[in-house]
Amino acid sequence: MTSEERPDELMQVGQPPQHAEQTPPGGRPPLELLVELQDLDTAISQLQHRRAALPERQELASLSATLADVGRAAAGIQGSRSELVERQQGLEADISATAARRESLEQRMYAARGTPARDLQAMDEEVRHLRQRREQLEDAELEVMVALEPLDAELASLDARGAELRAQAERARRALGEAEADIDKELAVQLPARELVADALPEELRSRYESLRARLGGTGAARLVGSRCSGCHLELPSMEVDRIRHLPEGTVVTCEQCGRILVPTAPSPARSSA
Ligand SMILES: [Zn+2]
Repeated sequence: MTSEERPDELMQVGQPPQHAEQTPPGGRPPLELLVELQDLDTAISQLQHRRAALPERQELASLSATLADVGRAAAGIQGSRSELVERQQGLEADISATAARRESLEQRMYAARGTPARDLQAMDEEVRHLRQRREQLEDAELEVMVALEPLDAELASLDARGAELRAQAERARRALGEAEADIDKELAVQLPARELVADALPEELRSRYESLRARLGGTGAARLVGSRCSGCHLELPSMEVDRIRHLPEGTVVTCEQCGRILVPTAPSPARSSA
């Protein structure tokens, strides 16, 4: 910077030293930097909104919700299935016990030749009863097995649906990651550029802009385009426009309507007189 290299010469031409401090790198006027900062901030906000509202993110959320539904349905069926399996195991145990009892009775009947006829008859009666009991138990077991079939089929179909959803979710997650990375790449350029411009602004103008921006939906500085404020999109009275356009260059003015810093752009062709 010439101001740092040759301060004496600057003093000679009558420039106050603090002016040299305030002049941003590249010598661009603060208000020009301010609109550039606003443009960068607007672009950054748009990127951040786009990142938050990526369709891949919504798709992933909806897939996750569906996957959770499938998981809950499968857990419910698994519960009913467990009850049936438990009942089946109980029936099988009863069937084994019945068979064992019958076998031991039959062995006694054929082995003991001296057993009184009345006892033999009682044992025969019990064997017949045990045979009936076994048939009943087997019928009950068959019923349980028939009831299990649709549950197993449903579980298998839910498993397949779950696997399909997980694969879709994986694809959506990858697509989301790529879309985020694309936006992050742009942000990685815009954010440091924004800081550079912001750092070049005089501190007072910068903090005024930041607080307006925080208060007014992300727009702290607006252009005066023709007689319209680009922040609130309202027309300014022509006398006010004229007053603003005749102020010394660099004067910071505020839109009377929205309170934003108003930066006049090149005079519009509509302006009648010089
Ligand atoms: Zn305005």
